[in-house]
Amino acid sequence: MTTPESGAPIDFIRNIINEDNRTGKHGGRVHTRFPPEPNGYLHIGHAKSICLNFGIAAEYGGLCNLRFDDTNPTKEEEEYVESIIEDVRWLGLDWEDRLFYASDYFDQMHDYAVQLIQAGKAYVDDLSAEEIRKHRGTLIDRGRESIYRNRPVEENLDLFARMRAGEFKDGSRVLRAKIDMTSPNLNMRDPVMYRILHAEHHRTGNKWCIYPMYDWAHGLEDSIEGITHSICTLEFEDHRPLYDWFLDELGVYHPQQIEFARLNLSYTVMSKRKLLQLVEQGYVNGWDDPRMPTISGLRRRGYTPESIRNFCSRIGVAKTDSTIDVALLEHCIREDLNRHAPRVMGVLRPLHVIIDNYPEGQTEEVDAVNNPEDPDMGTRKVHFSRVLYIERDDFREDPPKQFFRLAPGREVRLRYAYFITCVEVVKDERTDEVVELHCTYDPETRGGSAPDGRKVKGTIHWVSAAHAIEAEVRLYDRLFTAENPGDVREGGDFERSLNPDSLETVRGYLEPSLAGAAPGSRYQFERLGYFCIDSRDSSPERLVFNRTATLRDSWAKIESKL
Ligand code: ATP
Ligand code: MG
Repeated sequence: MTTPESGAPIDFIRNIINEDNRTGKHGGRVHTRFPPEPNGYLHIGHAKSICLNFGIAAEYGGLCNLRFDDTNPTKEEEEYVESIIEDVRWLGLDWEDRLFYASDYFDQMHDYAVQLIQAGKAYVDDLSAEEIRKHRGTLIDRGRESIYRNRPVEENLDLFARMRAGEFKDGSRVLRAKIDMTSPNLNMRDPVMYRILHAEHHRTGNKWCIYPMYDWAHGLEDSIEGITHSICTLEFEDHRPLYDWFLDELGVYHPQQIEFARLNLSYTVMSKRKLLQLVEQGYVNGWDDPRMPTISGLRRRGYTPESIRNFCSRIGVAKTDSTIDVALLEHCIREDLNRHAPRVMGVLRPLHVIIDNYPEGQTEEVDAVNNPEDPDMGTRKVHFSRVLYIERDDFREDPPKQFFRLAPGREVRLRYAYFITCVEVVKDERTDEVVELHCTYDPETRGGSAPDGRKVKGTIHWVSAAHAIEAEVRLYDRLFTAENPGDVREGGDFERSLNPDSLETVRGYLEPSLAGAAPGSRYQFERLGYFCIDSRDSSPERLVFNRTATLRDSWAKIESKL
């Protein structure tokens, strides 16, 4: 079975929706939401939830809201709200006019709370947080009732009104649901609905000094917005009875909560708390550092929205937790850029090559293919002259058996240009380091083939030294060396598995066609990898490139073995 519009393969969530549509449970409506808390930047795990919620709405001709779950004034900031809006939009998803804030419902939530108090289903408790925790009991020990649990309704109404009016200090009282202190589900042991917090909220200012707890607020937000399927991650499964209890006791519209397994990625930490720690402790340069698994970091790194959406659709959704190999994410961006990014030549660790028999002062232009995967991308001209840079790695004075690139006396092809033969190696006398090569070229081999049919085994890239433009090139690698950073088996502390070589900066020499390229533009540097112009630090005077990915695709290897 598939979903009606996309023909996408069915998963357990789409199965539930198909069944609901068959039975007419929500009148055939499908209305989802993506509800981030604005206490950090979005990460690739959020992208999974975004693609799922917006994707399902699109497939079923339904709607998806963007809703800020801003019920906690102390950790939330406007900067996060703005970044989230930018990131969801960049991913290519559209909430139309349905951008909501939980804080817009604070009045309504308050009225619902009064309704529960009046029905004898909620009470003001004077116990401290510590005492409430002790009374709650454990999975083995049942909980104990608070001595304030059976206050008369009138007293509860009065105290709740005074909590709201600001008469009491932080932590002195809470409003709790009156459910069952003996429930085997700890979430049902009279959970806290409101706490006192004299804190300014980024949207409501000082209007409130009581703030709703997540479990109380979330179902109400869904209900108010007419959400049909409230999709959340697995850790909320045990909270579902509470979600249902609140809505049932209030007798209001009741969405269906559905839980799925969150995305975990190897060699990556994902929780906002840990990402904030990386930022605050200076292990990375901000939330959008290209090594971060945040949407803004991936964007700066050179990921496309299509590659992230494609990744999310390939991993699918399931009901059990697992860890996805980060190589799959990397594979998705390589696949996209291989098809769409223009290829250029650039040298990152230069070695001077002088073509002795090429006339001094002469320049010519050779034709280079922009992308062999896509003939429509055409060709461009690349300058060739007597002095070139090649990659240091592409020369070995003493080549091992499988090395087919340049070596003394050896002939290789310069991509799109000529065959050259190395005739002399110049070394620094003191350090013995190779500083320059002298070569000859065969004018008959223009374009890269010999009329006499002779073959060469190696083809290397190059740039004309006189024409090359310089750029700062940031060679990013994975931020962690451990597959499960922070796992107890790997030392427990994720900071200990930080990769000391996750960033190396080099000076690159690039073909001049890259001058004036726009920030965010993506390229394949032939034989080196995919690179993107940094959107924050690059300028026409000082080009900065980020390495998005190398060309080595470890996922493709894994896949070919499957
Ligand atoms: P974190 O645990 O990383 O701090 P969170 O769950 O607290 O994230 P929210 O802002 O509350 O972050 O998340 C918004 C939505 O994104 C929620 O519906 C949440 O379930 C979903 N989400 C968060 N992390 C992941 C993940 N790793 N995989 C899939 N969905 C996620
Ligand atoms: Mg959360």
